Parts: sequence; C-alpha cells; structure tokens
Amino acid sequence: MIFTTKVRNLYSYLQSLILCSGFIWHYVSPVKYGPDDIILYILIAYAFTIMVFRWTRRANLFKTDYLIYVGQLFEAFVIALIIRYTGGIASHFFLIYFPMIVFISVYSSGWRAIFGILWYGLCFVFAASSGSFTPGFWNIALIKLGSIWIVGMVSFAVAHHMKSSEGKLLKTLDALNERTWELESSQAQLSNIYETTRALSGILNLEELLKEILRIARNIFRYKQCKVYLAKSGEDRLYLYAGLENDNRHIYEKPTPYNRDISGLKNLQDTGSMLKQLSVDGNNGKYKTVDVPMISRGKVIGIMQIIPESGGTVTAKERRLLMIFANSSAIAIDNSILHKKTQELTITDELTDLFNFRYFRSRLSDELKRADRYRQKLSILMLDIDHFKKVNDLYGHQTGNSVLREVSGIIEQCVRDVDVVARYGGEEFTVILPQTDREDAAIIAERIRETVAKNYFQNNHDRREIQITISIGGCTYPEGSHSLEQLLEKVDSALYRAKAEGRNVVFFAESEKKRSTEFTV
Ligand code: GH3
Ligand code: MG
Ligand code: MG
Repeated sequence: MIFTTKVRNLYSYLQSLILCSGFIWHYVSPVKYGPDDIILYILIAYAFTIMVFRWTRRANLFKTDYLIYVGQLFEAFVIALIIRYTGGIASHFFLIYFPMIVFISVYSSGWRAIFGILWYGLCFVFAASSGSFTPGFWNIALIKLGSIWIVGMVSFAVAHHMKSSEGKLLKTLDALNERTWELESSQAQLSNIYETTRALSGILNLEELLKEILRIARNIFRYKQCKVYLAKSGEDRLYLYAGLENDNRHIYEKPTPYNRDISGLKNLQDTGSMLKQLSVDGNNGKYKTVDVPMISRGKVIGIMQIIPESGGTVTAKERRLLMIFANSSAIAIDNSILHKKTQELTITDELTDLFNFRYFRSRLSDELKRADRYRQKLSILMLDIDHFKKVNDLYGHQTGNSVLREVSGIIEQCVRDVDVVARYGGEEFTVILPQTDREDAAIIAERIRETVAKNYFQNNHDRREIQITISIGGCTYPEGSHSLEQLLEKVDSALYRAKAEGRNVVFFAESEKKRSTEFTV
C-alpha cells in the first residue's frame, strides 16, 4: 500500500537519526553510565543488525511485513539499552520512543500493533528501572510510560482510520477502473458496430444486403445462428428470407412462411417490451435465443433471430448492441426494398405491371443491336383492343381497367420468357420477340388474338360476361426496315391495316396477311 511504503522510508531516516545521535552522545557526553564504551558497542551492534535486516529483506528471505515488525520489537529493546546506559529515567533518548511507537502502531495492524505498543512500554520500564530510584521516580516513570502509550494508541487509531479510508479509496478506484474499462470496451464495440452497420445502408440489392447482414452476425457478433424474417409489403405474416447456420449462409429466393406474425408487435410501446414478448429461454436476464424486432421508420418490418455460439448466452449488454444491429439492418433492408420499388416504377406500368413505353424503346434499341450483331431476326407486335371505348362506356372505367389487366396477363401467357411485353399507352400493347422470324411471330400473334377473343372478361358493373377482341399489327426486322423508327412506323401501319380490315385481325407488314376476323363486344 502507498501509505505503508512512505512510512517505511521515514522509518529508515529515524534509524539513521538514532545511530547519529547515539554516536554524538557517546563522544560529547561528559558523564558515562555502565561499563566503558558500552554505548559504542550497542550502536555498532544496532547498525550491524539494521544492515542484516535490510539484506534479509532485499533477499526476500522472510515475509517483509513480519520482518519489519520483529525488527521494530528488537529496536525497542535496543533503545531501552541505549536509555539504560545514557542515564536511565533521566535520559533524553526516551524521546525516541515517541516516533518509534508511532511507526509501529502505523505500520502494523490489529493485535500486532497493540502488542507492539505494550512491548514498547515494557522496554521503557526496563530502561528506566536502572540506576537509583530517587523520590518521585515512579511519578515520572508513569507519566513517561503513559505518554508513550497514549501516543501509541492515538497514532494506532489515526492510522487505522487512515488505512481503512485508503482501503475504501482503493476499492472505489478499482471499481472506477473496471467501469472505465467496461465503458471503453463497449465504446470500441459500439463504434465497430456503427462502422460496419453504416456500410449496410450503401448496399441497395436485397440479396447482397442479407448476405452482408449474415456475415456481420457471424464475424462480428460470432453468432452460431442468425435468421432474418421479414413481413412482405402489406402483410403481417413473417417469411424466412435469410439464414446463417454456423458458417453456411442461405438467401431464400422464395421466402418460406414462418409460424409467427408481427401483428402483436404493433401495439407494443418500446423495443424492450417487444424483446420480452419475443425472446425465448429467458433466464436471469440472459437468453439462449433472442428474437430482436427489426424496426425501420417506426415500423416493425421483421424479426432477427439469434442463437449464440454453443453454450454461450446473450447478455443484456449484448442485446443492446444487437438491437442497434437489427435496426440498422432493418433501415437498410427497407431502403433496398424502396429502391427496388422506385426502380420498378420507372420501368413498369402501374396499372398492368407490364414494362412501360420508355423501357420498351430502350429495350428495343438494345435488342436491335443484338440482332444486328448476331445476324438474327427480331419481330415486334403492336396490339390494340377493339372498340375499347365502348367497354368503358358500357361497363365503366373500373371494368375497363380490369380488362386491361386481364389482357396484359393473356399476352404474357402467350409469349416466351425472353419476350418483352410492354404497355405502349392507353389500350395498346407491344411485344418484342427476339430471334423470331415472321412466321413464328405470326403464330404467337394469332395465339394471342384467339385467346383474347375466346376469353370471358370480368365485369365489375353488372356481372354480365364480356368478350372483346384485339387487332394486332406485326413486323419483322430487318425485312425492309433498317431503324427503330422505321420498324415502329411499319408496325403501326400494320395495326392500322388490321383495324381497317375489320378488327380482330393479325396483319404483318409487307406480307399483309390476313389471319382471321371476328368481332364481339
Ligand atoms: P378502336 O377499335 O378503333 O381501337 O376503338 P377504341 O375505342 O378502342 O379506340 P379509341 O382510341 O377511340 O379509344 C381508346 C379508349 O381507351 C379511350 C379511353 O377511354 C380508353 N382508355 C385508354 N387508357 C385507358 C385506361 O387506362 N383505362 C381505361 N379504363 N380506359 C382507357
Ligand atoms: Mg387505341
Ligand atoms: Mg382500341
């Protein structure tokens, strides 16, 4: 302890002082007591003993505290000898007992200090009892003994108090150090997690994002298992989107439904109560599995389920970090979904979910380049619903809209995956048929025309069945057309011709081949 180390240094000075003053007394004092040069021998023996003690201490032969204590008891006897041969009760060397007794009571603790104080008193009595017992001897002896003991007791009490305060202070310091260390480590952990999760918001592709979330769960949090369940837009039901099992990461293209939903979490006030409701195997604030709500823009969008390394548990502190991770992931996922929607909106038509005109043009331009490069043919179809205005007039706009959606579905069913179906505008559609010559394109067009003509459309107005027809113009590249504009002009005039021929007809530019005619509304 700091306090006792300082005391030990002071004690060494006192020993030197005893030796110096002893030698001075020996050489200057006119009166001598006891045998010749006895003081000189005592001092030399004392100096020698001090040296032996110090050497023993340095060599670590005995326990230091114990050694010092024994040394102090021995010194009390040496001082008694010095007093005895420098005048007994009248010797001023008795003053040395005061600092000595202070040291022993400060340096030792408990019973050792009390025995030391008593021992010092006894030594003094032994020292004082030499020589003649003059009248008043006992008075002086008792006063001196009393004062030695009082000083000893007082310093013992003060030292005891100081030591316990020092102990308390050290304990507080220890606790403070531990707390600081904890704070520093959790701050380092926090900034690490902040940096890693911040990078998540830069990933806009959902699949890549989920992969990265699982990577962080494995590499930073060291979790054995991590599953990400998300609710699809407009639904409460949760679906498993991604899962980490030890080192294997799975991203599910077709998310599988989970037997839980997020409806119960909507009414809960805070994340803490959500955690309570979700987490399983709770035990003394520690969890074997933790289901953390994933919150973005104040809404629960899913659940992150964690299972730590085998045998491990998730502490309350870790759960806090996990909540930060889950929410950062939720925000990033929400952003990526929003980004996908925005992207889809810019290339798709909202009513029919088909590609829009803008996308159709840029895709057609790409497909024409590809056709040129590989010297392949490409056909396009332009489709227009016959007398569609009547559908609106007779059954209402809503029915018109659902007819448009149904026609879109039929067109998509009738073409291949590689073909591009777009809404050209109003009740007109286009289809790009890559690597398709006129004959094949005509077959596809005919299939569409026929399927539409045979279909009974939904009527929201009065439940009567509706049948409609479409006219289709077709054109094949590069037969006679050399640019995108020429191709569009040609297909447009083919459609015009189909209409002119009486509708429910497929017409191909150049061939101008009539396929069939029928008309029903
Ligand atoms: P045609 O046989 O000559 O093509 O006759 P049509 O009535 O189909 O052609 P027209 O160009 O005269 O009318 C097209 C109608 O399509 C007019 C418009 O009310 C309707 N229409 C266009 N877009 C939409 C839409 O998004 N929803 C609905 N319900 N109707 C639409
Ligand atoms: Mg039209
Ligand atoms: Mg029309």
